[in-house]
Amino acid sequence: MRSNISSLGAKEIREIALSLDLIPSKGLGQNFVHDANTCEKIVRLADVNDSDRIVEIGPGLGSLTLALLRAGARVTAVEIDKRLASRLPETLSDHGATPESFEVIAKDAMQLLNSEVPEGSLLVANLPYNVSVPVILHILSMNKISRAVVMVQSEVATRLAASPGSKDYGVPSAKVAWFAEAKIADRVSAKVFWPIPRVDSSLLTLHAHQPLGTETERELTFKVIDASFNQRRKMLRSSLESLIAEHLPNQSCAEVLEASGIKPTERAESIDIEGFLAIAKTLQGR
Ligand code: SAM
Repeated sequence: MRSNISSLGAKEIREIALSLDLIPSKGLGQNFVHDANTCEKIVRLADVNDSDRIVEIGPGLGSLTLALLRAGARVTAVEIDKRLASRLPETLSDHGATPESFEVIAKDAMQLLNSEVPEGSLLVANLPYNVSVPVILHILSMNKISRAVVMVQSEVATRLAASPGSKDYGVPSAKVAWFAEAKIADRVSAKVFWPIPRVDSSLLTLHAHQPLGTETERELTFKVIDASFNQRRKMLRSSLESLIAEHLPNQSCAEVLEASGIKPTERAESIDIEGFLAIAKTLQGR
C-alpha cells in the first residue's frame, strides 16, 4: 500500500480534460470514472497487492491507474488517445506515483504485442465499451494473464459469463471460456462516470485456466464457434455443413459431429467449449 498516492477527484478530472481540450469521445468509449470508491472497489475485487504487475487498458485520465498504484502494483497502461497517454505520467507523478511504478504505452490495445505484457500480469480495466470483447480476447490469447477484473457494459458482462443453454450464451461466452472462467461480480451505477453513459455497467472477474489446446486447435475451434453461431437457430448439421465440407469433404456433417460426441441435431447454444474443441479435433483428423 502506498498511502502517499492520492486519488483523482471529480473536479480535477474535468480540469485536466479542459486543459487538454478534450471532449469525451463516444467512439473511444470515453466515460471516465470520477468516483474514487469505485476505483478502490475494483482494486479490492482484483485483490491487487504490491507484487502484482497490472495491464490496464484505457487508463484515460488516470483515476483507476492511481488506485492500482496506491495498492503497490506496477502498471503498464495502454491508451489509444495520444493526448491522454502523453498527459498521464504528469498526473500520476503529481499524485505521488514514482516513474518506475508505471509505463504508458500509447497504442491501440488490439495492437499490443505479447512481448509488451509481463508474464503473470493481471488485467484490470474500465474498458471502452465498443471494443471490450475483442480486447479481452486479444489480451487473454497471450496466455500471460492469471486473472482479470474488467468493467464492461452489463449486457456484454452477461454474455461473457453465460453458460451453455442460456439465451445469452454465444460467441463471446464460448470463446472466453477457452481461456478463463467469467463471473459477474457487481453492477456499477452510471453516476460514477463522466459523462454518464446511456448503458449500465458491470464488473466481471475472469480466472484464467490452462489453455484447453494448442494455438492451432484454438484457431480452428474459434472458426467452429463462429460458424455454429452464425446460424444460431439451425441444427449443427446445417450450420457446420460448409466448414466440415472444407476440411473433410468425404465425410457427412452428421458423421463428423457423431465422431466428436455431438448429436447432429443439437444447436450451438447447447455446446460447451470442450464440445467445440472436440469438433475441431475431428476436423483435424484426430
Ligand atoms: N480508465 C479510465 C477511467 O476509468 O476513468 C478511462 C476508461 S474509458 C471507459 C476507456 C478508455 O479507453 C479511454 O481513455 C479511451 O481513450 C481508451 N481506449 C478506447 N479504445 C482503446 C483501444 N482500442 N486501446 C486502448 N485504449 C482505448
